[in-house]
Amino acid sequence: MQIYLVGGAVRDKLLGLEVKDHDWVVVGATPDEMLARGFKQVGADFPVFLHPKTNEEYALARTERKEGQGYHGFSVYSAPDVTLEDDLKRRDLTINAMAEDDNGELVDPFNGHEDLENRTLRHVSEAFCEDPLRILRTARFAARLAPKGFTVCPETHALMQRMVSEGELEHLAPERVWQEIQRALHERAPTVFFELLQELGALAPLIPELSAPEPLATGLKALACIDDRAGTTDQRFAALLSALPETAAEQRASAMKAPNNCRDMARLASHFTENLENAGSEGLTAKQIMALLNQADVWRKPERFELLLQTLACTTSQAQRPAIDQLRAAVNAASGVSAKDLMAQGYKGKTLGEAIHRERLTQITQALNH
Ligand code: ATP
Repeated sequence: MQIYLVGGAVRDKLLGLEVKDHDWVVVGATPDEMLARGFKQVGADFPVFLHPKTNEEYALARTERKEGQGYHGFSVYSAPDVTLEDDLKRRDLTINAMAEDDNGELVDPFNGHEDLENRTLRHVSEAFCEDPLRILRTARFAARLAPKGFTVCPETHALMQRMVSEGELEHLAPERVWQEIQRALHERAPTVFFELLQELGALAPLIPELSAPEPLATGLKALACIDDRAGTTDQRFAALLSALPETAAEQRASAMKAPNNCRDMARLASHFTENLENAGSEGLTAKQIMALLNQADVWRKPERFELLLQTLACTTSQAQRPAIDQLRAAVNAASGVSAKDLMAQGYKGKTLGEAIHRERLTQITQALNH
């Protein structure tokens, strides 16, 4: 049995980047031999094992055979006669298809090292077409490595364009797409991911509302601004969708199977952005502010509201900065209102709720007048 370090670890080592995960490929072994050496099998049908001490992943060399459309039409074939090259050949990009043997020698049948030196993202083989997720992965590596000068080579660009035009992306499960988008939002240059997808015609099937030039430009501008601020996934996602009307943002987030916190942040950011931009030069009235704060459930979720305000700093124009500060000041002023004090004054039930509302509004009005 021979064991090789493969994939991202080899790529990142050559790029001089920190290596986080080590993935290994084992050639010439059977599952029983792995189990006999103390490895634990992960999943029932997949020839992947965990090392008993390091917990790192060791996969038996495998090839994949495609039987239908989309990701589900694969069968995995693994046997001791599957070679390292067979295994590397089913990988997406040449820079991800290199291995290192136990002497530290590079095994590079697809010239990944040369592509890496030339800052090129290139598909390994025509088998790239068998999994449309590879389009998203390639865009994500472009988003990660563009600041280092990497670009997609013309052949891979053309191949991806053809896959998109043949409708391949429509076969992807939304959960897999979301996973890539979520990761892409945290890459070094996330806007590159969406720009490349747009160039390929891939945004229309994935996030149709963003495939028009105006909402895309607005969303990417907001996203680039969040990028400088170490934002969370929900903030980045909300920035991306901020040009969409509230209902459209919410529906798209749900259709994409984005988690609830991302969907809610996107919905609120669109709603607030629209309200702030429509407010005019006098800013928002106390009543409008009160309504917005209630819609954002700020009294129960103050930390979420602060994240929303930070997001708005990127999704609204410069002219709205004072209005954002006003929202923050309003929350500060009104959060001093105490239900306990009002109960001590004899309010209860429905009248207590009304008194709290009235008192908060008074505090906000006073804060606005200062
Ligand atoms: P990251 O730094 O994002 O973890 P990675 O290259 O380690 O990058 P993984 O998703 O962990 O990415 O995948 C490990 C390796 O498996 C990749 O380097 C690539 O060779 C291969 N791979 C993963 N997913 C696919 C896919 N859908 N199609 C082809 N090859 C893939």
